[in-house]
Amino acid sequence: MPEGSELWNPYRFVPTRDTIRREAPLTRERFVVNAATGELDCLLTTLTPLFIGKETVGKNKQFITRANKPVIPGTSLKGLFRSMAELVGGGCMLVKNKTWEVDDSQEACTDCRSLCITCRMFGMMERQAHARVLKGKISISDGVLVHGDGRLHQAAVYLGSPKPSHTAFYKTPGSGVVDGRQRKFYFHQPGQVDALRHPTAAKEADLWTIDVLPKGHTFRFSVQFENLTDAELSLLLYVVALEERAEVHVPIGGQDDLRLTGPLRHKLGYAKSLGAGSCHVRIETMTLLPTPRSRYSSLACHGEQRWEGGELLKQIAARTTSYVGDSSPTMQALRVMLVWDEKDRRRFSYPDFHWFKHGVNSAVPLKRV
Ligand SMILES: [Zn+2]
Repeated sequence: MPEGSELWNPYRFVPTRDTIRREAPLTRERFVVNAATGELDCLLTTLTPLFIGKETVGKNKQFITRANKPVIPGTSLKGLFRSMAELVGGGCMLVKNKTWEVDDSQEACTDCRSLCITCRMFGMMERQAHARVLKGKISISDGVLVHGDGRLHQAAVYLGSPKPSHTAFYKTPGSGVVDGRQRKFYFHQPGQVDALRHPTAAKEADLWTIDVLPKGHTFRFSVQFENLTDAELSLLLYVVALEERAEVHVPIGGQDDLRLTGPLRHKLGYAKSLGAGSCHVRIETMTLLPTPRSRYSSLACHGEQRWEGGELLKQIAARTTSYVGDSSPTMQALRVMLVWDEKDRRRFSYPDFHWFKHGVNSAVPLKRV
């Protein structure tokens, strides 16, 4: 929300990293001695209502289901982790935002032999004639409901957001210009755990209903990976598990400064501006297969390693220290967006229609974070 207002705008932009490093990918023909192949067994618990949309019937958007139970498609989970990896790992911007020019350094990878870390991990397709495809090294199953009755509730929503012509809402933090070197994130809204905030500014005709799944439901999914370098496995673990303890200081001014502490949590699906989609993803077990040489040289497969509980937490901590200890502008801004502090009682809302119509407001900046 703009300066001077008690409300907060539901989203902010996080600046991307300065450079994208590209190199040749490891492919199946290029197994290296220590490349990691294995699986993460994961649980996802909803902290606020969740909406993953299927088709629309009239003015009702339905939740995707299988055998009458809500399900989270693996493609949704892959998209969540890939876009997080693009920001955290300094990858290219695969999905171009049509509202602004992406500068050359952020341009999506175009050559299969020279790829950023996220294209090497998640795959890419060249765009010209005779395009080559690099299959990703990570595959993610659908999230299957394992806890909760799966009953969906209907919520009335207004699915609009400020237009890019309102430049104060789209400037890159730091540079202060609209250049696309940024990623959009929505704040968590721990005050909205039981129901979505009803939109206030919407006209009756613009309202939709969506089928949301309440908080407290848990899904199980697996992440399979092959031939990852140490750096790629570290990034994968970070973007799935995030951080368990972060402290965030938001300098609003004087005594109003906001201090938030808590874990970093993901935000998935739609209606994020109304508080939907906060979820806790945790890795239950990690399994690493033995190196390819021992795997293929012997019929009896020995040496599979498996971690869970405290030993797994130690493994994750050891492999993600470089990200957890990273205080770059990108990571600091990301923590501001992802911190989940149950005591956070900020109220989030877009300005109403009349505020946007009033020309003088187009230059009013957002609150500093
Ligand atoms: Zn790339």
